[in-house]
Amino acid sequence: MVEANRTVVIPLKIPEGSRSDFHQTILPYAYCQQEAVDHCWPDTPTRPDDLQTSKRDAESALYDRLREDTDELLNANLVQKAIKDATAAIGSCKTSWENGDRISKPDFYDRELPGYTMTYDKRAATYSRYEATFSTLTGTVTCRYELPAEIEGTPYGEYVLDRRWSFSTSKLVFDGEQFWLHAVMQRRFGDDPVYAPTSDDSGSDTHEDTHRVLGVDLNVDGATAVTSTGQFYGNADALNAYRTEQEQLRGELQQTGTRSAHLRFQQRRGVEWRYYDQYAHHVANSIKQEALRVRATHVAFEELTRIRKRISNLPKFQHWLFNKVQMYTAYKLERYGVTVETINPADTSRACSRTDCDCVDEDNRDGKHFECLACGYTVNADYNAAKNIGFRYLSDNLSNPAGRTRSSGQATSQLALVSGTLSPIGDFAEHEWVSTDKPHPQQASESSDSERSRVG
Ligand SMILES: [Zn+2]
Repeated sequence: MVEANRTVVIPLKIPEGSRSDFHQTILPYAYCQQEAVDHCWPDTPTRPDDLQTSKRDAESALYDRLREDTDELLNANLVQKAIKDATAAIGSCKTSWENGDRISKPDFYDRELPGYTMTYDKRAATYSRYEATFSTLTGTVTCRYELPAEIEGTPYGEYVLDRRWSFSTSKLVFDGEQFWLHAVMQRRFGDDPVYAPTSDDSGSDTHEDTHRVLGVDLNVDGATAVTSTGQFYGNADALNAYRTEQEQLRGELQQTGTRSAHLRFQQRRGVEWRYYDQYAHHVANSIKQEALRVRATHVAFEELTRIRKRISNLPKFQHWLFNKVQMYTAYKLERYGVTVETINPADTSRACSRTDCDCVDEDNRDGKHFECLACGYTVNADYNAAKNIGFRYLSDNLSNPAGRTRSSGQATSQLALVSGTLSPIGDFAEHEWVSTDKPHPQQASESSDSERSRVG
């Protein structure tokens, strides 16, 4: 497999008031960089080999301490990237030294330089074609790209907009005035695709004629993730119980007030957050496996800001967890060409998900039990929601075919579903792809009319 990389420099539009989020994040980040330099650079090196350049060694020696030193506030991946920046800088010093050049110890605190650079991999940032979201000390910041008036022929048009290229670990650069994304675009040649392109047209690797969507519903109780194929992943109830227990433990330690209690408090927090992070990875991995198994081209989630409205008082922790699950799923699936999308979740939990029924009613749902008042369809409520989420994505996508090069008449849209009856503890050996016309509002109302006359 051959890989190609291109760096595209893109000016960023920083939202009002968010510049300081980055200026604050660089402080612990530069601290980690400099600690790593100090670790790898002995007091008086006498030969190039005295310089340590192994990222792996530096990480295993420093990672835990730096996480603690930065109070776990700095994103774990940023700590790793800061260490990597340091070993990379020392690596180039070593090469210069071997070539007989004069070198000096890297100084990431150099205040003579007005700017800074932070390395963001795809677990600390989400990159899309028009904007990027970065994790900072105070939360995430989304920055739109400042695009050239004429895109054609620019590196942006050639690499960022071309779907054969995908984002790799990139750099956020502040030059003292302006923020830039040094986007590293990567293309793999000869990669064995998981699903074959649907057309035989040579020279074209678009597979956009077929949308195969896996809908995923995220929950604060029961299973954390439920798919439109009827799979249930994670145990939110057990997770919540663990959290309550940890909160009590931490509360006791905090009340003790001694220095050693404070240290144990910090350690506990580290253990705890690693546990949540692993949990998110586990759920995301399960979704990924399912998406690949059913050959999905898209995985659809609910938009998090909207979930917040749907689940009133959605705790910050759940928001954090859902965000991680979505980010990790996107990250894990990107290399397979499967994209993760989000939809407006309005009504997805109240609407009947049968394609021949368009009943939307609050009373359809009672906790985890869904029973359609119109057609009597009875099913697990989260599974019903997951199907609606998948349908919604198809609907939004079909009614808004912008950017599609072929006529949408040829497009087929499918939602991954199980056939047969569903219960949360079954084994669903038989899966099928269901094509649906539901996305078209007119057709939906036509079928509902016939449905009503049949029911009535
Ligand atoms: Zn119904």
